[in-house]
Amino acid sequence: MKIVSACLAGIDCAYDCKLNTCEKVVELVKKGEALPLCPEQLGGLSTPRPPSEQKGNKVFSIEGKEVTKEFEKGANEILKIAKLVGCKEAILKAKSPSCGSGKVYDGSFSGTLIEGDGILAALLKKNGIKVLTDEEI
Ligand code: SF4
Repeated sequence: MKIVSACLAGIDCAYDCKLNTCEKVVELVKKGEALPLCPEQLGGLSTPRPPSEQKGNKVFSIEGKEVTKEFEKGANEILKIAKLVGCKEAILKAKSPSCGSGKVYDGSFSGTLIEGDGILAALLKKNGIKVLTDEEI
């Protein structure tokens, strides 16, 4: 069973309520091979919500509110689910401060990308789960 970013499966959970539907991910969910989850909602954040970016190992909203705890809580809940379902691979939304893998925004809200992983992607990798993004599948 794969874990996939819920927004890639057409779930309305993105911060700006824009749909990020990826047909390949939708097909996996339909076949019962993937579980759509959103770490930011599981961490207690609402939809819509202000955009957030990482700064070092913390996360802040564009309004300057620290949301690291919420991001970490959501990632930890998804790790629990991943272990329950025996997940070995995840397909996550590129560039998100939670789900991004390899590239994330630099915390300046200027659209600048730097090398790095979102909070969930980093946690899953640390626990031996392979992470791909929607741009890689
Ligand atoms: Fe999608 Fe991940 Fe952002 Fe949730 S946290 S909306 S699953 S990219």
